Amino acid sequence: MSKYQVDEKGFYGEFGGAYVPEILYKCVKDLQEAYLPIIESQEFKDEYHALLKDYVGRPSPLYYARRMSEKYGCQLYLKREDLNHTGAHKINNTVGQILLAKKMGKTRIIAETGAGQHGVATATVCALMGMKCEVFMGATDVERQHTNVERMKMLGAEVHPVRTGNMTLSDACSEAIRDWCCHPADTFYIVGSTMGPHPYPDLVARMQSVISEEIKWQLEEKIGRDYPDYLVACIGGGSNAAGTIYHYMDDERVKIVLAEAGGHGWDTDYTAATIHRGTVGILHGAKMLVMQNEDGQIQEAFTISAGLDYPGVGPMHCNMAQKGRTQVLSINDDEAIRGGYELTRMEGIIPAIESAHAIAALSKLTFKKDDVVVLTVSGRGDKDIETYLKNKEMVEKANSPESANSNG
Ligand SMILES: *Cc1c(COP(=O)(O)O)cnc(C)c1O
Repeated sequence: MSKYQVDEKGFYGEFGGAYVPEILYKCVKDLQEAYLPIIESQEFKDEYHALLKDYVGRPSPLYYARRMSEKYGCQLYLKREDLNHTGAHKINNTVGQILLAKKMGKTRIIAETGAGQHGVATATVCALMGMKCEVFMGATDVERQHTNVERMKMLGAEVHPVRTGNMTLSDACSEAIRDWCCHPADTFYIVGSTMGPHPYPDLVARMQSVISEEIKWQLEEKIGRDYPDYLVACIGGGSNAAGTIYHYMDDERVKIVLAEAGGHGWDTDYTAATIHRGTVGILHGAKMLVMQNEDGQIQEAFTISAGLDYPGVGPMHCNMAQKGRTQVLSINDDEAIRGGYELTRMEGIIPAIESAHAIAALSKLTFKKDDVVVLTVSGRGDKDIETYLKNKEMVEKANSPESANSNG
């Protein structure tokens, strides 16, 4: 048994657990008891993999990035989750969870969303299965992510703007949990990342583990060896990172580098670098690292990337970082913007601004020429074009002579 996997009580070291209101005890317990027998059944696996293949478009390519490899002095392969249906890795998880919901006899789906990517992925599979879908989204995000709101509506979902707190992702999660408390019998809550009460972090990690399952045979096919020297991914709640590393967690030959959103800097008030800045607390049903003040008030996360804008981080990653298994880098807004432009201009791939954080991490690492590096491009950048264009001066400033050493 892996030392980084969840234990029988739902913990990863000191992190995790299921801290839910009493009214949800039964509901969460039912899920804890049901999820493994269902997702390990042949019937589930057949349906899940058929949908991943024909609906999502898997396997996603593992692409050798020649020009970037030359630039960084390594052998860089990109795992192209941006090519999935709906444009990111999130659909791997929603396809799995809706199949689970159906097998558990649930008829109503709820979800939280920040940037709207998970909301769209959930609304998509609800349309596919003909199920009722309600999405909770902070009122601030409803405004700044308008296209995704329209997509969800077109897919038939009802979007509820949440007006409590900062009116962003964290508040949307709280509201989804509140709704779940009111409808525990018929409702399945599709959680969007490796967070929430046990068994969600483990469930989501397993649904995303198809990423590293594919990396294994794709590397074997391409280089005759089924493991890389480095895995690199961005981390918000931690689901694309969990999927990328899942089958390599205990393989110490593989170094794991994760990029969290530094915002203006992890040591400023404008950051979402939870692993750098957080302290142990309970948020949305689990013990994890949380950005909070001394009174336990949650501090708002800040980053240019709506998908990484969360004041907590999944318990599995808290544990791995604490044990030194992962190296976590804080990548600032300007570095991410530059990373996004770099991949665009050097490989013709416009990445999501979240994924651009992983690209930017490359320049902070020292490689040997033969090092095989697999980096997950978690999503495509169509939704971020405005952000890239608005912040283009960050790239130009970085290229000007007087700022040659500005890279902290
Ligand atoms: C949501 C999102 C993320 C962050 O979520 P994780 O659970 O940490 O993977 C990263 N990239 C993209 C493209 C996203 O949509």
